[in-house]
Amino acid sequence: MAEQTSTVTLTIDGQPVTVPANTTILEAARSAGIDIPTICAHDATTPRGLCRLCVVDVNRGRLLQPACIVPCQDGMVVETTSERVLTSRRTILEMLASAVDLSQAPEIQRYLAEYGADPQRFPQARRREHPLLDDNAFYIRDYNKCVMCWRCMQVCAEDAQYIFALSIDGRGFNSHITTAFDIPMPESTCVFCGQCVGVCPTNALKPKVEWGLEQGLTPDQIREASRGMSRRRRPIQVK
Ligand code: SF4
Repeated sequence: MAEQTSTVTLTIDGQPVTVPANTTILEAARSAGIDIPTICAHDATTPRGLCRLCVVDVNRGRLLQPACIVPCQDGMVVETTSERVLTSRRTILEMLASAVDLSQAPEIQRYLAEYGADPQRFPQARRREHPLLDDNAFYIRDYNKCVMCWRCMQVCAEDAQYIFALSIDGRGFNSHITTAFDIPMPESTCVFCGQCVGVCPTNALKPKVEWGLEQGLTPDQIREASRGMSRRRRPIQVK
C-alpha cells in the first residue's frame, strides 16, 4: 500500500510552498512570508472563519475561501491579492467601519488605510448602540467597539481558561457578547484573569485604570470608585 503523503505542495501568489498536510492556507502563507490580514484569527484562539477578512482566491473558484480554516491541498493555486479578494476585504472593512466604533482599533485602522477603505461608504448604516458596562474593578466593556471576533469568548472558554463567563446573545445585527442572562460580571463565573482584555483587538474591553485615566480621573479616584466592585455593582461617576 502506498505510504500516505505527510506534506502537500501548493502555489501561493506564484510561489511554490510545501507544508505539512492539514496546514491552513493562512499558516502556509505566513510560513512563506506572505501576509494575509485577519481580525478574528489570533495565535491564542482556534480559527473560526468569522470575520472573512482573510479570504483568498483558491483555484479561481466561484467563492472566495477563508484562509484561516481552509486546509492546503496538493496542487492548490492560491491568490491572496486578486482584484476580487481586495474588493471583498475593502467592503468588509467599510461595513465594519459603518457600524462599529473602530477609533481604538489600531490594527483595523491600518487595514482600512492599506485597502483604501472608505469608512463613510455606508452613511445610512445602523451603528452598534450599547451602554458602556462598568460593573467591576478590573475592566470596562464598550460593545460599541465590538467587531464580534469572538476572541474574548474563546480565551474565556476552551482555548484558554475554561471559565465560560462570556457568551453571545441576540441574532444578526443585534448579536452581542454578554454574560449568561446578562448578569453583572462579578456575579458571573469570571475570575478576572484579563485574558479577554489581552486579546480584544478594538479596546472594547479595556483595563479600568487605563479607561479611568482617559476620563481624567486620578489613580486614587479610580481606586476609590472601584473599591469592592469585584463583589457588587458600583459604576464610576465621571463628572
Ligand atoms: S469584545 Fe473584543 S475580543 Fe470580544 S468579540 Fe468584541 S472585539 Fe472581539
